[in-house]
Amino acid sequence: MLHVTDMTAKRAELTPDHVAFVDDETGRELTFAAVNERAERLARGLLSLGAREGDRIGILCHNRPDFFVFLFACQKARLILVPLNWRQPPAELLPLVEQADITILAVDGAFQAVADALAKARKLLRLGMEPDVAAEADLETLIAECPAGPLDTRPVSTTDPWYLLYTSGTTGLPKAVIQTPAMAWANTVNYAQAVDLVSTDWSLNFLPLFHTGGINLPTLPLFLMGGRSRILRKFDAGDVLDLVDRGEVTSFFGVPAIYQAMALHERFADTDFSAVRSFACGGAPLPEPLIRTFAARGGLVCNGMGMTETGPTVFLNDRAHAESKIGSVGKPQMLAETRIVAADGAVIDGAGEGELQIRGPGVTPGYRGNREATEAAFTEDGWLKTGDVARRDADGYYFIVDRIKDMYISGGENVYPAEVERVLVAFDGVLEAAVIGVADERWGEVGEAFLIARPDMDIDVEALPAWCREQLAAYKIPKRYHVVADMPRTAAGKIQKHMLRKLVP
Ligand code: ATP
Ligand code: MG
Repeated sequence: MLHVTDMTAKRAELTPDHVAFVDDETGRELTFAAVNERAERLARGLLSLGAREGDRIGILCHNRPDFFVFLFACQKARLILVPLNWRQPPAELLPLVEQADITILAVDGAFQAVADALAKARKLLRLGMEPDVAAEADLETLIAECPAGPLDTRPVSTTDPWYLLYTSGTTGLPKAVIQTPAMAWANTVNYAQAVDLVSTDWSLNFLPLFHTGGINLPTLPLFLMGGRSRILRKFDAGDVLDLVDRGEVTSFFGVPAIYQAMALHERFADTDFSAVRSFACGGAPLPEPLIRTFAARGGLVCNGMGMTETGPTVFLNDRAHAESKIGSVGKPQMLAETRIVAADGAVIDGAGEGELQIRGPGVTPGYRGNREATEAAFTEDGWLKTGDVARRDADGYYFIVDRIKDMYISGGENVYPAEVERVLVAFDGVLEAAVIGVADERWGEVGEAFLIARPDMDIDVEALPAWCREQLAAYKIPKRYHVVADMPRTAAGKIQKHMLRKLVP
């Protein structure tokens, strides 16, 4: 068993006076030494509230530096942090709280009512993160009362559960993925070397902290590298463009929905992007027109691929190929081993599509409390089956084709909706497109397309089939088109196709 050093204490030893976090709302700064001290005190505080090794601590809050203090306190006290999705109502959260057996719930003022409802349904100790939250315990009091200094707990090993993260819920119910210190370090190595992250980098944190992007891209890697993160309560395109313009960001990560919102904002055209050394993206297909829009303003957006189950960073394209290998997610990074496997189990070495499988220290030990799902997710020799189809070009650059689940068969031919969507978003006036396969008497299944128009533009739907015919085989062309105002989405803005299916008349 390999032990890891206490990451927070180590960082405080190396760069005590550097700023680790800036609270965007209050302007308050926390140095690495201050973060460590706060985490030590909180770790003792959580134990004093009755938490025992391995217990799950829930947290329900908007983005704020103290979220990370909880994360580090949990590692010190050997507890498991469970960030909850504040978009879910109490009725949806309750089964998760029960499954994870959460006994202490940290909550900020915005979610008082949710916490109250949960506490009414289940024995739960509420820990208020602000003085005005009505709760059984108060964060500042706890921190003031408990002493700082290293804790006398068993050393942490690389594979100990540290926190749980729910998957995005794009294809169904979110799964609780165990996250370990090894995953955090693998993600740091993979991400940091891919974007050249250094201790003088500044970044923003605005993706929701209950998904992997919020914690891990790039805030935790940047913390471990000694850099500075400004934590915004929530994402606001205008605020973010303003911070970029003011030179407050040198390394930027967003999901496609974030880049889309920035590109549509009125301030986009006169934002100065020159302070940003690196723009990285991942989590969902990145529309090529969006890459071009940013490139025209001097921002090279590199596409990458990862999963909650992989820490997440596995692939990231490099700046030199952001445009020449447009559509690619780059190469597998330092601590990620990947292979492409055909339906018959044969490993594909050259060209050809197949399931992407991943192995390495960044891969989760499994889903908590769900052995069946864990066993189904891995091959016998320990490769994670991603459920994604990928291919690799002659230069070793990877392309994500689509999710296996989303593929449909029309007239005996496989159709990957993502390919059709790429053609649709290149059509005039189309901002976003989603295609699903629906039952059809003649063809078995046919494509049905949902489109969102660009602001103040119309989509000439009549002309779409002809546009598709120029670029796609006939069986791939959707049979029906719907222009809609929005689509069902996850918190990270991913389109939930299983929900979209319910909208089909
Ligand atoms: P769930 O597992 O609950 O259905 P999810 O798979 O969307 O949700 P995440 O772990 O957040 O949950 O996302 C990982 C998935 O996102 C990958 O398996 C892949 O399908 C998709 N993905 C990530 N990056 C990209 C990308 N650059 N291009 C296309 N798809 C991507
Ligand atoms: Mg998934």
